[in-house]
Amino acid sequence: MKILIVEDEPKVAGFIKKGLEENNYEADTASDGPSGEELAMKQKYDLFILDIVLPGFNGLELCRKIRKMYPETPVIMLTALGTTDNKLNGFDAGADDYVVKPFEFRELLARVKVLLKKSAHFQENVNKLIFEDLELDLDKKIARRGNLKIELTAKEFSLLEYFMRNRGRVLSRNDIAEKVWDTNFDFGTNVVDVYVNFLRKKIDKGFERKLIHTKVGFGYIFGEQ
Ligand code: CA
Repeated sequence: MKILIVEDEPKVAGFIKKGLEENNYEADTASDGPSGEELAMKQKYDLFILDIVLPGFNGLELCRKIRKMYPETPVIMLTALGTTDNKLNGFDAGADDYVVKPFEFRELLARVKVLLKKSAHFQENVNKLIFEDLELDLDKKIARRGNLKIELTAKEFSLLEYFMRNRGRVLSRNDIAEKVWDTNFDFGTNVVDVYVNFLRKKIDKGFERKLIHTKVGFGYIFGEQ
């Protein structure tokens, strides 16, 4: 996931970039309207964070330009003023959300995640399932987490696909056995645990943020706990 930050205050831009990188996003920065537009034209970004008051031309104008190029890519506006007028102008220009300065990074991060999740839904149409920094390519049958390419066996692939299509839902071992192994008799749900552990080693091991969680007494849940 790659994010472009357009912000003319170096301290603020640096603070956002650092926070995003710590959360496994890639981030570029630009410090004025024209250079923001140039980067947006050259590269593909998954989300834009735009300050309103910028040299060159302002964030609202940049937002309009970005909207024309990429109608579906989410845009968050940063506003120091936080008046109703500013927010309305931002939405008018096509922004999806706004954050009022000064803000805490986790507030911005929460909005980034919500918007990326919404656009991930949209991207399912291009034969990929995306959750945060995990991407499952349904055509090539491979997974990617951040920059790491992950090879999966056929069963691991089906299991991960089932998890990703049911994110945020508690899945019992029987649900999983039925959908992934296509069996409804009790073939020993132990097999499910074994495969979930294989998958965990591949997609969660070494990452601070775990995606597969055990729900004691129920089964497993992918994504949000
Ligand atoms: Ca500014």
